[in-house]
Amino acid sequence: MNIHEYQAKEILKNFGLPVLDGKVYNKNLDNLEADLIDLNGPPWVVKSQIHAGGRGAGHFKDPFNDKGGVQVIFEKEQVFPIATSMMGNVLITKQTGENGKTVNSIFIEEGCDIEREFYLSLLIDRNNSKVMLMISAAGGMDIEDVALTNPEKIINIHLTKDKDISLDEGLQKKLEISIDQFDELNLIINKLFYAFISIDASTIEINPLVLNKEGRFIILDAKISIDDNALFRHQELADLKDLTEEDPLELQAAEHDMNYVKLDGSIGCMVNGAGLAMATMDIIKQFGEEPANFLDLGGTANKDRVIMGFKIIQSDPNVKSILINIFGGIIHCDMIANGIVEAVKELEFKLPLVVRFQGTNASEGRDVINNSDLGLVSIDDFTEAAKTVVDLAKG
Ligand code: GDP
Ligand code: MN
Repeated sequence: MNIHEYQAKEILKNFGLPVLDGKVYNKNLDNLEADLIDLNGPPWVVKSQIHAGGRGAGHFKDPFNDKGGVQVIFEKEQVFPIATSMMGNVLITKQTGENGKTVNSIFIEEGCDIEREFYLSLLIDRNNSKVMLMISAAGGMDIEDVALTNPEKIINIHLTKDKDISLDEGLQKKLEISIDQFDELNLIINKLFYAFISIDASTIEINPLVLNKEGRFIILDAKISIDDNALFRHQELADLKDLTEEDPLELQAAEHDMNYVKLDGSIGCMVNGAGLAMATMDIIKQFGEEPANFLDLGGTANKDRVIMGFKIIQSDPNVKSILINIFGGIIHCDMIANGIVEAVKELEFKLPLVVRFQGTNASEGRDVINNSDLGLVSIDDFTEAAKTVVDLAKG
């Protein structure tokens, strides 16, 4: 789960990390002008809150000046009009895709005089089952670009509870900071590591971590993602989820405990079991089309879930045909077949549909499909079924 910058900073502040004062506005900017009295400036920084990076270098769909989604402002009376122009506007960045993302929240922060910008992140190195620190003196810019052009500028260090990186003199030299600053940086890294473990983060990315004109470190940007599988232990973090950032179809599926991921292709897939769902997507690609989704009905697939699955797939306008691929184990194919027939009737479903059954009561299931008079196609062979659904999508 991703959270917004202002939420990430609130968390980091509670772990004693250096962030600047700021105020967040959701949907409306009521009180902004009065609030500004309490915020140190000039400058003030007006920051669009969306779940994507590259905001500073991005642009708005409805442009109002030549700057992006993060603007440093020196005249107090400019803060409100700029924030007003951003609110509700669509911000397009390298990471949002061409459709961009609507700005529903704006964070106004006190400004800071930047001397140097660093990159710092913590993530899980799955090859070593350890938390890894990535740090670079080339901060502020796209770390992906640095990794491509100057990979030697990024330093990777595995962190453990008893590792003392303050002993790493080489690191201090590489970052070109003083001993005092290195001590301060170590304190920050230790606190971040503690925060990372405490909140079950999967990444914490600070870009930039800056040295201000007084030579102190400050966290100017923060992105945190939290391991979904650990959210049950952190209700307060789960509550930070911004539903406007989530795909509505995925939310609907999650409410019914179904695993649905929307994709960009034209062939809807309804499958039971994640492995079979992936094999189904692979074979569709092999025949030159793209899956419109991943949908795992789960081991407890029943009629109601089939109907729910149909509704979700039907809401995606890109879908041209559907492949239902069911392996009957505990569930019986004929039961699913009855669910399919009822769902098609109930929803007046018009898209071409290919059904493949294997396993428990597969032949009874096929009979139900073949006798339905709804024009449904039942095919036993996986390859044949995939080929047919691809042909049907092409019209
Ligand atoms: P991102 O573009 O989504 O990564 O958003 P950031 O929060 O990183 O902001 C983009 C850039 O704006 C930063 O890399 C900084 O260079 C600049 N910036 C952000 N806050 C301040 C500030 O308080 N003062 C100044 N001078 N620049 C800032
Ligand atoms: Mn940034």
